Amino acid sequence: MTLPTSALIDKYGLAAPRYTSYPSALQFDDSFEETPFLMDLQAQKGDIAVYIHLPFCRSMCWFCGCNKIITRNQENADRYLDYLAKELQLWRPHISHNTVGQIHFGGGTPNFLTVAQIDRLNALIKCYLPVQPGVEISVELSPDQLDEGQVQAFARLGATRASIGVQDTSPVVQQAVNRIQPQSCNIEAIGWLRKAGFNSINVDLIYGLPHQTEVSFSKTIEQVLALDPDRIALFNYAHVPWFKPAQKVFASDVFPNPMLKLAIFNASRARLEAAGYCYIGLDHFAKQDDELAKAWQLGQVKRDFQGYSARQSTAILGLGMSAVSQSEHAYRQNHKDLKAYEAALDSGVLPLAKGLSLTDDDRIRRHVINQLMCNLELQYKVLDNELGIDVKAYLDRDIAGLRSLVADGIVSTQETGIKVTDTGRLFLRNVAMQFDAYREQQEGRCSQTL
Ligand code: SF4
Repeated sequence: MTLPTSALIDKYGLAAPRYTSYPSALQFDDSFEETPFLMDLQAQKGDIAVYIHLPFCRSMCWFCGCNKIITRNQENADRYLDYLAKELQLWRPHISHNTVGQIHFGGGTPNFLTVAQIDRLNALIKCYLPVQPGVEISVELSPDQLDEGQVQAFARLGATRASIGVQDTSPVVQQAVNRIQPQSCNIEAIGWLRKAGFNSINVDLIYGLPHQTEVSFSKTIEQVLALDPDRIALFNYAHVPWFKPAQKVFASDVFPNPMLKLAIFNASRARLEAAGYCYIGLDHFAKQDDELAKAWQLGQVKRDFQGYSARQSTAILGLGMSAVSQSEHAYRQNHKDLKAYEAALDSGVLPLAKGLSLTDDDRIRRHVINQLMCNLELQYKVLDNELGIDVKAYLDRDIAGLRSLVADGIVSTQETGIKVTDTGRLFLRNVAMQFDAYREQQEGRCSQTL
């Protein structure tokens, strides 16, 4: 007999990684080897992707889980670009034979940069990166700090995709999280982006923030629909105050409880689907004619540190403070501390802090977990062909461990594979965790699934 929803939440609303990578970043350490990533770059057949971290923000949103630096001193960005140039210079010999097909600017707030600083960033990219004609360039933007000149500067740089942080339009919630952003800012930002030729706009929202109610969040959803974005990411707030101490500002009784969070998510999903958006994976929505929705229908969605995407290179080069690089055999992460990042570059070495060389087991499980997160199913025959092993036999114990998830209607199993049910999509991270060889080490270090 299927458990009532409240019992499912009690049983499965546990801490679990978001599986934007496998193994998760919690497994990275300083004993990694440098060569596997460089060898993967050498062997890379298609384009590589580049992620550039721009860490500065003018004020602190209390919920934030990003690696950022709060400052109002614009000169910090000039200095940061000096060091980014040094890092690019060090990378040049390693990537001279590669081509770059995608670039993403994340933060922090990339539009902390002035127009002159964005133009300088543009010049650095043209000088140091072997960029392909037709490269896809995307940028994360904060509408409350954006002006039209910055949008035009990012357009000059070649950006055609933008992701704007909205999170919640309720003034009560915005006050509680220290992010005041009237809807007029969002409308203006999207107007400038469309005018400048951006053809894909994503809006980020978060459910689970202080003082949210079903009624208040339904207004947020209506206001976001009025913006007519191509995509919407509806993230579950990650409350990890032991890791992000600024979150300690929130009293424990201000958050919606898990049942209310579930109600908010389900009502939002229903409204977005009724408005013509396709529900993708764990927490993304896209218009039916959007590239991401089409990739979803074809089972070709990819997942990385930025969430779900329609295209993804097997090698991502991360540049800037805290940026993560990934390839077939390795992850590596730059220093999260700006001083350490700069000190390494002053010494003429790549600013690497930690990483992980993947074992064969890691690579098999990464593929399996990606399949679950992106396609909500495992088809053993397909996986056998892709991985060159008998997957069912290899994952025998993990599959047997799904018994209670099957009994509770989270997954269904057949001879040919397993499928996550519609109810199970809410607990997708729990399903993926069954295949995580490090799952015992994750306990108490991740956010709750609900
Ligand atoms: S603007 Fe973005 S990165 Fe900066 S503090 Fe707010 S949520 Fe974090």
